Amino acid sequence: MLKRSGLRHYVTSRKVADSRHEAGVRTCDSVDCIRSAANILQSMDKAVDPCEDFYTFTCGNWAEEHPTPDTAIEHNWFAERTQHVMRRIRGKHQHFVTDNLQKNGSENEPLPVTQARIMYMSCMNTDELDSQGLEPMFQFLRDIGMQVRPSLQKEATQEPFNLVPIAVKTKRLLYQDILVGFSIYPQNSNRTIQRLTLGTPDVRSPLPGYKDIDKQIEKRRKKAKMKEEKEEEDAYSAAFLEYLAQAISYIYRWNNSASLDKDFDLTVKMAALRILEMDQRLTGVMNENDEDEEEAVEMSVEELQEWTNNDLNGTLKLNWTEYFTLMFEGIENVTLHLEGGEDKIVVTNADYLKSLMKLLSETSSKTLELTMWWEVVHILAPQTNRDMREMKERYIERVMGGRAPETRSTFCTNAVNYLMGMAVSYFIADANFLNATKSKVVDMLVDIQWAFSSLVRSADWMDEETKIATLEKAAAVKHFVGFPEWLLDRDQLEAYYEGVHVNETAYLYNMLGIVGLFTTTMLQSLRKPNDEDSWATEPTDVNAFHTFQANAITVPSGILQFPFYGLGLEALNYGAIGTILGHELTHGFDNSGRQYDKDGNMRQWWTNSTVEEYVNRSACFIEQYSSYRVDEINSWVNGRLTLGENIADNGGLRESLRAYRRFRERNGPEPTLPGLEAFSDEQLFFLSFANSIHSVMVWCENWSKESLQWGMDDEHSPNRIRVLGVLSNSPEFSKVWKCPKGSVMNPERDKCRIW
Ligand SMILES: [Zn+2]
Repeated sequence: MLKRSGLRHYVTSRKVADSRHEAGVRTCDSVDCIRSAANILQSMDKAVDPCEDFYTFTCGNWAEEHPTPDTAIEHNWFAERTQHVMRRIRGKHQHFVTDNLQKNGSENEPLPVTQARIMYMSCMNTDELDSQGLEPMFQFLRDIGMQVRPSLQKEATQEPFNLVPIAVKTKRLLYQDILVGFSIYPQNSNRTIQRLTLGTPDVRSPLPGYKDIDKQIEKRRKKAKMKEEKEEEDAYSAAFLEYLAQAISYIYRWNNSASLDKDFDLTVKMAALRILEMDQRLTGVMNENDEDEEEAVEMSVEELQEWTNNDLNGTLKLNWTEYFTLMFEGIENVTLHLEGGEDKIVVTNADYLKSLMKLLSETSSKTLELTMWWEVVHILAPQTNRDMREMKERYIERVMGGRAPETRSTFCTNAVNYLMGMAVSYFIADANFLNATKSKVVDMLVDIQWAFSSLVRSADWMDEETKIATLEKAAAVKHFVGFPEWLLDRDQLEAYYEGVHVNETAYLYNMLGIVGLFTTTMLQSLRKPNDEDSWATEPTDVNAFHTFQANAITVPSGILQFPFYGLGLEALNYGAIGTILGHELTHGFDNSGRQYDKDGNMRQWWTNSTVEEYVNRSACFIEQYSSYRVDEINSWVNGRLTLGENIADNGGLRESLRAYRRFRERNGPEPTLPGLEAFSDEQLFFLSFANSIHSVMVWCENWSKESLQWGMDDEHSPNRIRVLGVLSNSPEFSKVWKCPKGSVMNPERDKCRIW
């Protein structure tokens, strides 16, 4: 992929350094500058030629300085900073002892903050969890009308099993899609209208327990099955079967005085196998009906029923009127009008639903019941006692290649942060931030919007009409920075969590209370005009977001910290957070975002000829990125899958550099960085860019083979490729680093460019 030329030293910047010293440029000695300088110096591998491999030049020593923790599968600045935020919330630092999850609260703090603390304590109290054992899970199963221990026999007497109430209750109480995916989404062509939406199962319960890893495993398994990579699929299946059998056996034995029959172990294995087989069939049905290739259709409930009943031989398993009626039962201010099609259903994957019904009608009641039981149990089991937690952890370790699980305190902090993110953010929200940092970040964003607009004005491939509409959209982008101001208002924070009750010994039910609040909010949104003026995430998130349908970007407090922001010099800030802001802004004009107009409605608002030219220019990126190979795992980058992110990366860098130049025009030159006096401000901009990050992947990081492999399924290119891809398209980079034509970072080929 990249050749490492170990002996060439960079000469270019030394010359620059001399001239800067001669000119008497001041060196910045603030704490922020010294920290930034130390970070950059520690990460760099100066033996590498920046024009041959800028990634290694900038980050070559990062891995050595930041060893991957035993509990992680990959490591990067995002992960490290997330840990930092979590520690701050939890309160391990001496200076943060007044407000944190481990301390007793003061009487003045808002109720949800106290509740978040109680939830954390209930999670940490593993003695209590051990003494309650599986009982809270059993109680839940009884509550939703499931047997605590369903029959493991394949063909016991065929009592009819109605899966509708179970599927609905699992969604309402656990927020988990079972068999079908249900949600409420704004209509594409008019985002103020909310629609019932049905498709493939997609949403996972927010209850903690290695959700991300589960999702990855499922993705890999699905892919292995589709590509018929038998060996890989078998490895997953073997680990899954072992976990299943262990869990089932444990649950049947726990506090059970009934004597088990002598073939019990064999019965368990056979039952586990049936669950696996059903799971594989469902995966098969999903693979055959890829949602991305389907066109969404609108149906009345009668049409939907007829569509899914067709071809079935009389054994109806799913009544859609019952499904929707139960789903909205008791939800205030929402009355469904299903009959006659007043409330139509947007079906995003009609073929999947049809195939699913066929599969269900061919499956025995007992197997269905057992499969549904496991769907619920696998979410709840890790919330119970130590034995069940360890079983899940061993399974994860086996699939992941022997990594230790996270510590309990990290697990609990993450859980509370995920479920009560706004309450937890109270610990990091302060009024000073709003006055100082927020206004600076907003100023930077305004500069970047200006830079984007100036690029649009000078683009030679867009016609006037499209340019005007694009400039309007860029000017209308909304931004949410730091944290919502209402977090500082006790009444508003309390209203946000109204109806939540927590108790120190009710860990599972504390979480279910919050999940219930999620569901109610989601269901009530059907009758609320959707203005989408809301935060895309929790303020603690170390990431940034673009929401197409709101034409908005969210920049949480979590990412407004070293090494993304507060770096001492604006050259460094623009290189890091600036490129992230530019990236998010550009998403509104990537291959997906460009399809939404300034109000967030999907329609064609560009002329045909400009769209055609856009597609041509996209092809350049697809070809460029598809030509990159990750040698370590012998795999090519998917230029199509990563197109949107690559467009955003390329635009983001150019916009941020342009915005930085404007800043410098206004404010004059900046000082140099101690120990890095050799580098010009624009060189520091690029160093900071490569040293920092974006999104799930970081540009400086340690890759393990597994995470590299998994990274290939991600919409972001691997980070090394992100750096190489963007910089090799940047004439500005080549000029600033004096990279000769034909070097790796300044190749002979045409440079791809949209924005
Ligand atoms: Zn992105």
